[in-house]
Amino acid sequence: MAYLGVDTDPGTSRFERIKVGSYADGAAVELPVAIFRGRTSGPTLYLQAGLHGDETTGIEICRRALQALDPSTLSGTVVCVPLANPPAHRSRSRGWANEERGPIDANRVFPGSPGGLLTERIAAILFGEFVSHADLTLDLHSALEGCTIAPFVYIDPDDNQSGTLALREGAGRAFGTPFLYYKGRGQKLGTSDMTRSLRGQADPAGKASLSAEMGESTRVTQEFLPIGVRGVRNVLRYLGIAPGAVEAVPEQRVFRTISLVHAAEGGALAWHADLAENVRAGEVIAEVFDPFGQPLERLTAPVDGFVLRKMLFATVATGAEVAWIAS
Ligand SMILES: [Zn+2]
Repeated sequence: MAYLGVDTDPGTSRFERIKVGSYADGAAVELPVAIFRGRTSGPTLYLQAGLHGDETTGIEICRRALQALDPSTLSGTVVCVPLANPPAHRSRSRGWANEERGPIDANRVFPGSPGGLLTERIAAILFGEFVSHADLTLDLHSALEGCTIAPFVYIDPDDNQSGTLALREGAGRAFGTPFLYYKGRGQKLGTSDMTRSLRGQADPAGKASLSAEMGESTRVTQEFLPIGVRGVRNVLRYLGIAPGAVEAVPEQRVFRTISLVHAAEGGALAWHADLAENVRAGEVIAEVFDPFGQPLERLTAPVDGFVLRKMLFATVATGAEVAWIAS
C-alpha cells in the first residue's frame, strides 16, 4: 500500500515530504509522511498531529514515538503525518492565517474538498489517503490558544453504528489518558458543531478513529508528553502491531457531559481551581476583577464534576469560555 505514492519494503521505514500545493511565492506546501512497514503483515495505524497549526505537543509525541519504532519488529504498518497542516503551522495559528476570507478550522471541513481552498484540499488528502486506508486513526490535539486541557480521549460517537466501538474503546483505554469522553453522536463540543470533524466523518465511513487532547497550544506541554508517548506505544501493542503487552495505566474516569462557564464581565481572571480538580455545583472556581482590583464577578461550577479545560489568559472579555466542567 502506497500513501501519497510513498511505499516501503517489509521491515523498513521511509520518510518523505510530499508536495500537496504551493504558497503564493511558489514554495511547495509539503506534507511530511513517515511509513514504518513491519516485517510481517498486520493492521495499519495512522498517527496524526498538528492538524491545528498552533498545537505542538502532538508533534513532539510523534517524534518520540517514532524514534522508538523498529520496523523489523512490527507486524503491520504505522503511517504518520506528524505535522498535518503545514500552512497553519507556518502562521502559528489554528487555521492558516493567509487562507482566502480568513483562517478556517481544518477539523471542521472533513472529508475535505479536492478542488477547494488549500486547507480543504489538505483535509481531503488526509482523509482520502490516510484515514480511509487505516484500521485506526489516532489524531493528537491540544486545547485552543490560551487554554489548557486535561488529557483525555474521545470515544465519539459512543454508539456502535459503524461496528467500530469495541476497537475504539479498547484502543482508547490502552492509550491510557486519565479521562475518557463518551460523546453522543452529533453532540456539540462546547459551542462547536463537530459534524465535519475528522471523527464525525470517519465514523459514517466505517473508519475507526480516536482523538486525544492534552495540554496547551503554542508550547509543548512537557508534563503530558509521557502520557502521549506511552499512549502511542500502548495503542500499537493493543493492535498487535508492536510486540509486548499493553502497559497497565492508572484508573481512568469516564465523563459524558461538558458544561461551559462563560464570563459575563470582562477583566482580569483569577483562578481558584486547578486543572482536573474536582468541583461541586455552586463552588467558586474563578473570579473576574476590574483593573483597580475590584471584584466584578464570581464564576461558579454549574454541576458537580472536574475542571476539564481552563482559560489561562490573564484577562477575559464578556462571553469568554473560562472553564469546561466535565461530569
Ligand atoms: Zn486541535
